[in-house]
This record gives sequence, structure tokens and C-alpha cells, in this order.
Amino acid sequence: MTLTAPGSLQADSAAGGPVPPSPARGLVCRNCGATFGLVAEHACAECFGPLEVDYDPERMRAVTREQIEAGPQSIWRYAALLPVGQDPADRVSLDPGMTPLVRADRLAAELGLTGGLWVKDDSANPTHSFKDRVVSLAATAAKGLGYAKIAAASTGNLANSVAAHAARVGIPSYVFIPADLEPGKVVQSAVYGQTLVAVDGSYDDVNRLTSELAETDEFEDTAFVNQNVRPYYAEGSKTMGYEIAEQLGWRIPAQVVIPMASGSLLTKVDKAWRELAAAGIVEDTGWRVFGAQSAGCDPIATAFDNGWDVVKPVKPTGIAKSLNIGNPADGPYALDAIRRTGGAVGRVGDEQIVQGIRDLARTTGVFAETAGGVTVAVLRQLVEDGRLDPSEETVVLNTGEGLKTLDPLLPVVGFTHRVEPSLRSVRSAGLIG
Ligand SMILES: *Cc1c(COP(=O)(O)O)cnc(C)c1O
Ligand SMILES: [Zn+2]
Repeated sequence: MTLTAPGSLQADSAAGGPVPPSPARGLVCRNCGATFGLVAEHACAECFGPLEVDYDPERMRAVTREQIEAGPQSIWRYAALLPVGQDPADRVSLDPGMTPLVRADRLAAELGLTGGLWVKDDSANPTHSFKDRVVSLAATAAKGLGYAKIAAASTGNLANSVAAHAARVGIPSYVFIPADLEPGKVVQSAVYGQTLVAVDGSYDDVNRLTSELAETDEFEDTAFVNQNVRPYYAEGSKTMGYEIAEQLGWRIPAQVVIPMASGSLLTKVDKAWRELAAAGIVEDTGWRVFGAQSAGCDPIATAFDNGWDVVKPVKPTGIAKSLNIGNPADGPYALDAIRRTGGAVGRVGDEQIVQGIRDLARTTGVFAETAGGVTVAVLRQLVEDGRLDPSEETVVLNTGEGLKTLDPLLPVVGFTHRVEPSLRSVRSAGLIG
């Protein structure tokens, strides 16, 4: 990749060489449509609207199933549909992706779903959440844009992934998290030996602080993965949508249930499927996108229920900490995707979230973190209130690993029996006659 660093990424730097060019042709404002080069900006210079990667449709149409299938067992098999990373030598990545799509027949039977149910299990990624997808894109873009360091404001999983990516390639990282995060997420961020800053405040406070830090001289050479390189970061989430389609045999499921924090993942799964259909890689069979939030942090659910286009910020509470973004940057765009596809948003309380985690574990052998509990509990709610069609094929996303959020489970699951090391004791415990 030819660099015009810092600040600009060449769209087709490798033209003529053995590495295919990036299909990205620039950034476009999602609000006013203004276009920009492939630069390190996330807000439109005209209207402050969010910027998104814009692709050359010709190049997207040239991509074939066979070409993808011949690629590596990671997100990089979709490099021809991504803005960066076409040349393996350019990648800053733990090579996440191609996580299991688990058929959940027992959960389907329990919920009365007859159309087929699948769990896309992103706890299988290298740092055990879907964030490895977005960080691989952000860190690769950061390198291409000439940054020496990476940083993030995080609700936990992003912190884990940024620190691990930095450790893998040996660059410094600066991760800022709310001080009250789960011990599992703190330890898994700290273990990589990078800078980890606890902030006495909410995620939204942390995010505001890092926006200010990004403007200082000391952080001039630092890419904030979900801020100045956010357009590239966000594209990583598309790979979850691509994989679901490929793993279903190049089909798009009729319904999908997606947890929402900033709302970015939801918008990008929908974008991935629109791209695959537009490129002729899958048939456009239509799909409905459902969003899941916790009752402790439900600004997008509230906007949906009230028919609002704007999202009113809330102060988050509750156990689903990875989803606790009170002022979701992509909220309006998530609402657009949900409304355009005829989906809905559900919200569930902490007890339902714990039940969702246990239901998924008990019926499929997948142990989800609290965000996965939110999604499974919202699935149950959407079936019960008739908003989700039980006769249509459905995919739910498990975005993180249960071992990271043990606290809410500790009071409710544990040993079923406790015995002395003798048959007599086992007998009196009732395990044998
Ligand atoms: C970050 C995160 C999400 C949501 O991501 P957004 O793209 O911000 O909506 C969902 N689940 C888990 C486990 C996460 O860490
Ligand atoms: Zn604009």
C-alpha cells in the first residue's frame, strides 16, 4: 500500500500488481452525501454528519463466490468487499472471523420457532467478541494512514481487542474504560501489557474524554479506532453479515436479531446483505432486521416505540455493560434499517438477560455474555408478542463470551450436589440408589 501519511489512504495503490485494488473509492457523508477521499475523518466537513466508506459498484460486482471461497478462513476472505487489507502484508490483525453458525434446534423447539433458528457465535473470535472484526479493519486502516499508535474508548470488548491487536504487532495502545467494568474484561484488557486507563464515569463520559484527547499534540499520531478511523472500523462488522450468508449456502435469512450499543453492528449487517444482493452474489430475498437492547439502556428502543427519527440519550444502568452506550452514534441509522426492513426493537430487564444466557447455554451449549443474553431474551419476547414470524428462518447474534461476565450468573448457577469422596456420600446426595 502506498502511503500518503498521515491522513490519506490510496484507494488503488496496488493497481497493476498481484494484489487486487481496494473497492473503496472514498468516504461519503450519510447525512448530506458529500464525498471525501479515504482520509482519517469520521465527521463531514460540510454538516458534521457521519462518514461511511463508499465503494465502486463495478468492483463489487466483479467479486464472485468462488473467489471468496478460495480465501483464508478469516474475515480477510472478504477483502475484495472491504476498504483495506487486500494485501496480507498490510494487515494488522488477529485474523478473526469464520466463527460457527450453530443450528439451535432445541432452542427453536422451546420457543416455538418452526422456520429454523441459528446462532452466529462470535465468542469464538481471538479475544472472544465480535470486536476483533472491527479492530482488525481499524488497525489496518490506521497503519495505512500512517498512525503509530492505536487507542479506544470502550465498554469492555473493544478494550480487549485493541490491546491484543497492539500486542500482536508490537505497537503502543491506549485504552480507556469506565472504572466499573466487569473483572473479566478488565483482566483481559490488562493482560496484554498495554496502557489501560480506568475512568471514573460512564462510557459516554469516556468517549467524550477521548474525543478531547484526540485533539492534543500527544495523541496526534494515534488512531482512535472508533473515532477518527470509525468509517473503516465500522466496515469490519459487515463480515458478520457476509459469513452468515455464506454459511447458509449463500442465502440471506428472513429474520435476524442483533444487539445494539452504538447501533453500528446492526446497520452493517444490513449493509453487507444489501451489498451481496447488489453484487449478484446472493439473491435478494428480503429480510427483516430486529434490534435488541436492555431495559437499563434502551434509547433506540424508546425512539422506535415513539416513532422518533432522533434518539434521546439516556443514562445507562444494568448488567449488559457492553451495550451500555446512552448516546448511540448510529442510533438513527439503526432505526432506518429496522423500519425499512419491517423489523422491530425489543428491550429486556436484567432477570430476563440472565434467563436468556441460561436458555442459550442449556439448549445449545453456547455460553454467551450478557449482550448475548439480551439478544436471546429479546428473541423470546419478539416471538411471544408476535412481532417475529416463527415460521421464517431466523439468526440471532451472540457477540461475546460468557466467561467475561460471570458476576450475574454466580448467584444463580453452581454445583447441583456436594459430596464427600465416598459412595455413601454420593448415595445420600441422591445420585445413586
Ligand atoms: C460492542 C458490542 C455490541 C454492539 O456494538 P455496536 O456496533 O456499538 O452496536 C454488541 N455486543 C457486544 C458483546 C459488544 O461488545
Ligand atoms: Zn455531510
